Amino acid sequence: MVDKHLKICSLCQNPAVYLDREREIHLCSDHLITSVEEQVLIYLKKIDLPPVVGIAFSGGKDSTALLKAVCRILDQLSCRVVALTVDEGIERYRQETIRAAEETCSILGVPHYIIRFQDVFGHSLDQLVSGSDRNACTICGILRRRALEILARNHSIKVIATGHNQDDHAQTALMNAISGDVRKVFSGMGESPWYARRIKPFAEVSEREVTLYALLFGLFRDLPECPYASSSLRGEVRALLYRYERNHPGSMRHAARCEEEIRDRLGRIFERDPYQTCVSCGWPGSGRVCQVCTILTNEHPNRT
Ligand code: SF4
Repeated sequence: MVDKHLKICSLCQNPAVYLDREREIHLCSDHLITSVEEQVLIYLKKIDLPPVVGIAFSGGKDSTALLKAVCRILDQLSCRVVALTVDEGIERYRQETIRAAEETCSILGVPHYIIRFQDVFGHSLDQLVSGSDRNACTICGILRRRALEILARNHSIKVIATGHNQDDHAQTALMNAISGDVRKVFSGMGESPWYARRIKPFAEVSEREVTLYALLFGLFRDLPECPYASSSLRGEVRALLYRYERNHPGSMRHAARCEEEIRDRLGRIFERDPYQTCVSCGWPGSGRVCQVCTILTNEHPNRT
C-alpha cells in the first residue's frame, strides 16, 4: 500500500506513507492517523449522539478501522459504543470474520452483540439463495438491514454507525444512476420510529486512508472474501471509479458529494412518501408486502 514515490510528510519531516493527489499533500503515519480521526470526530461532533452508539461490525477492514478510530476518540464524545454483527450464514467466510470480530472486541473492551439470519429468518443466506437465480447480494443487503435493526432494537440502540467510506458512497451514487431508479438516491431518508438512525463517520475518508489506518494499527487480517462478491455490480463500478480517480484525482469525492447534494436539495420531495406497513410482518416498507417478506415467501424454493 505504501507508495514508493512518496517522500516527506507535508506537515513534518517524517517519511510520508500517503499522498492525497487531489490536495497534493503527503502525510506520514502519525499525521495520516490524526487526519482520519479528526475527520471522524468532526463528523460525530455534528450529531446529537445518544448515550450508546452501535457500530455495525463485520470484522472486516472498514468496520474494524471505524471501531478503532471511535474508541481512540471516545473521551471526546459523550457516548459509549457497542459492536453489532450480523451472521448471514455464508459458509467458509462468515465464521472466520466473526472470529476476527470477537477478538477485536475483546482487545478493545467493546461489548459485542451478534444476530444470525438462521435465528431471525429461519434460513441462512446460503439456504435462501440455493436453487434461486436472484443475486445473493441483493437478498443479503435487504435481510441484513432488517437483522441489524432487530439487533439494535433488542439493545435499545437508536443510532448505528457504519464503516462506509467515501469510495463506497461514490460507488453507490454511480450504481444508483445505472439502476435508473431515482428513488434509490433517496432511500432511507424518510423518518420512521421503527428504524435506528444510520450515520457514516468515514463519509469523508477515502478507502485508501481507511486501509492505511487499519494497516498502521496492525488491524489488517487476511480474511477470506465472500464467495458471492464476484456476482456484485459494485465490483465493476469500483474498478471503473478507481480508473477515473487515478486519471482525474477528486472524481471519487465529487461523485459522493454530488449524490449527497441531490439528497439534501431534493430529499424533502421524497420524504413526503410515507412508509407503508407490511401486511405480513408489520414492519414499514415501500409496498403492501415488504421486501423481507417477499424474499422469505417467494424466493426460497424449499420454503413451505
Ligand atoms: Fe452479502 Fe454480497 Fe457482501 Fe457477500 S458480498 S456479504 S453476499 S452483500
